[in-house]
Amino acid sequence: MDIQVTKVATPKPRPPEAELGFGRFFTDHLFVMDYTTEKGWHAPRIQPYGPLGIDPAAGVLHYGQAMFEGSKAFRGVDGALRLFRPQAHAQRMVSGAPRLCMPTPTAEQMVEACRALVRVEADWVPKAEGTALYLRPTLIATEAFLGVRPANAYTYFIIATPVGSYYGGSALKPVRIWVETVEVRAPRGGLGAAKAGANYAASLHAAVKAKKAGYDQVLWLDGQTHELVEEVGTMNLFVLLGDTLVTPPLSDSILAGVTRDSVITLAREKGLTVEERVLSVKELRAAHARGALREVFGTGTAAVISPVGELSFAGEPLVVNGGAPGPLGLELYATISGIQRGTVKDTHGWLVDA
Ligand SMILES: *Cc1c(COP(=O)(O)O)cnc(C)c1O
Repeated sequence: MDIQVTKVATPKPRPPEAELGFGRFFTDHLFVMDYTTEKGWHAPRIQPYGPLGIDPAAGVLHYGQAMFEGSKAFRGVDGALRLFRPQAHAQRMVSGAPRLCMPTPTAEQMVEACRALVRVEADWVPKAEGTALYLRPTLIATEAFLGVRPANAYTYFIIATPVGSYYGGSALKPVRIWVETVEVRAPRGGLGAAKAGANYAASLHAAVKAKKAGYDQVLWLDGQTHELVEEVGTMNLFVLLGDTLVTPPLSDSILAGVTRDSVITLAREKGLTVEERVLSVKELRAAHARGALREVFGTGTAAVISPVGELSFAGEPLVVNGGAPGPLGLELYATISGIQRGTVKDTHGWLVDA
């Protein structure tokens, strides 16, 4: 791609690394590329960060043709900038977009765009342990037309935000989980396997309800029987049952997490048995009752590993590992964040230079 770069005249002041949080500060530039059915993908460019001129009739605003990605670039202990599994993230958008009738740039173009933006924003990549530059590639329908059909014009853009350590530099903090038995994140046959904005819209109401009841996140069950566990918040779910690590199998209602894949790979290398299979609430309860529910954790790019300290089934709490993070979750967190920072050898080719 021939990416046109227009730099800002005056870069913004950098926020202190201790105050980054998640998604609060945006870098000086963004990557943008447009699509029309006549021209295909064209005009790749990096330009000053700012509002996108969008027509009020644009498809994304009415019928929700929108998808996004979330990946990270890291400053290694050697100072070099690297992206973690950018190809897997790009490929996920390529795979998910047809369900929303959306065209995408190629995975190679998306990786190239991410790398180019990270190079332009090199000074924005924080240094402290646990920090990263989070990349948010987004794909939206921009054609101004109110008929109900897939749009003929799209914009792909990438914004970047320096993010702090999810756990503020301290130990992993276990979350308390509300098991949602009425509302559904994604039904079978729906958009659940695509990182579509609509799945997040569907999840907000139960998340607010859970927060009000004093919980951190929602455990999502399947939409047909409301008995099978699917995901936790915006993360994939793992359960250590005895000596076996279990995660629900991928389906069209579960998002194929890149962290999920990394965890399965690393856990198998550590000699653990990993099963991708259906897991019911009943089985979790029974395992808890006989003391076999050893660990529960969520996996995702933002937190890497998020230990679950408690699952609440309609007022009946199951406390996991005494409410503390378990050793397996801690070990996987240390391995993945070590690879990302360059202190643990990357034997899988997961890191890509910016
Ligand atoms: C993004 C996301 C995940 C985690 O995916 P990663 O690639 O590991 O960041 C899991 N579940 C849902 C619903 C998601 O949107």
